[in-house]
Amino acid sequence: MIIKMKKQSTKEQIKKVQNHLKAKGFEIHDSVGETYHIFGVVGDTAQFDTRSLYAFESVDSVIRIQEPFKKVNRKLKNEDTLIKVKDVTIGGPNLTVMAGPCSVESKQQVDIIAKAVKKSGAHILRGGAYKPRTSPYTFQGMGKEGLKILNEVGQKYNMPIVSELMDKDHIPEFLEYVDIIQIGARNMQNFALLKELGKIDKPVMLKRGFSNTIEEWLMSAEYIMAGGNENVILCERGIRTFEPYTRNTLDISTIPIIKKLSHLPVIIDPSHAAGHWDLVESLSMASIAAGADGLIIEVHHEPENALSDGAQSLKPKKFDDLMIKANNLTTVLNKKIS
Ligand code: PEP
Ligand code: MN
Repeated sequence: MIIKMKKQSTKEQIKKVQNHLKAKGFEIHDSVGETYHIFGVVGDTAQFDTRSLYAFESVDSVIRIQEPFKKVNRKLKNEDTLIKVKDVTIGGPNLTVMAGPCSVESKQQVDIIAKAVKKSGAHILRGGAYKPRTSPYTFQGMGKEGLKILNEVGQKYNMPIVSELMDKDHIPEFLEYVDIIQIGARNMQNFALLKELGKIDKPVMLKRGFSNTIEEWLMSAEYIMAGGNENVILCERGIRTFEPYTRNTLDISTIPIIKKLSHLPVIIDPSHAAGHWDLVESLSMASIAAGADGLIIEVHHEPENALSDGAQSLKPKKFDDLMIKANNLTTVLNKKIS
């Protein structure tokens, strides 16, 4: 629900309406406009009689937010959300590039890849330590040891790190070693996990489930934000369609749709969408052109020996080529690759 106050409303009048709503258990989100004072009311407003607010003479209008997502909604907060991770700011005019191996395999492997992607201009180092593998017989990740490696290498190259969390019991490890907590496609609707992430303030990158609608995805982000953690980044990584040529179908249209519906930044993962390294560059360019806030790209120096997702991993040279093209494109689009 959004309340628009009359132009000449005094601070006292605004406070009076807000206190009235707070006493009913609602949360207030102030957003002072240039001419009007507007604020959002979050909570279970379904049973609330909006007309009762017109009893306050300072209230101009009461507008219900039709969408089920509230805190995520651009109607509640018009400015783009910026997420600060060490020296990197995600969102707004910035184009952020996250790159690294699918899985952490050894310290040497992460070091080689981190050194290369940093040199090419990547900002954030990715790497999975707890891997959500379809088969229980394939490599499951190095666990805590992998997080420690990522952390150490990230510090060496001055890159914040992003890694996937699958189990709430591992949250303390992630708070200690990781800068952005990734929630993978398979856990997008693990509501118990999302609620736990609402209790912390570390940035969370929430990937879209491969069979989930945009609204379901935004509702999952709402779970995290409703708990109090406002540092949410969305990540589109392709959805399941009837097309078997690619691993998934990259839903480029999510970018303008998310930009319209939400103030949260949206990062594109062309690697998991494509499933083939030779499609990654084109999908990256399309994503930047469509207005994405960043990319997350799998890179491996020996993809043929990678323990997971070698087929979709770029070699460092190809990643470097991509970064040059991305830089050129951002100049045309007036974005900042920083
Ligand atoms: C990953 O990033 O390595 C990963 C497993 O991604 P997704 O959850 O999108 O499949
Ligand atoms: Mn992967």
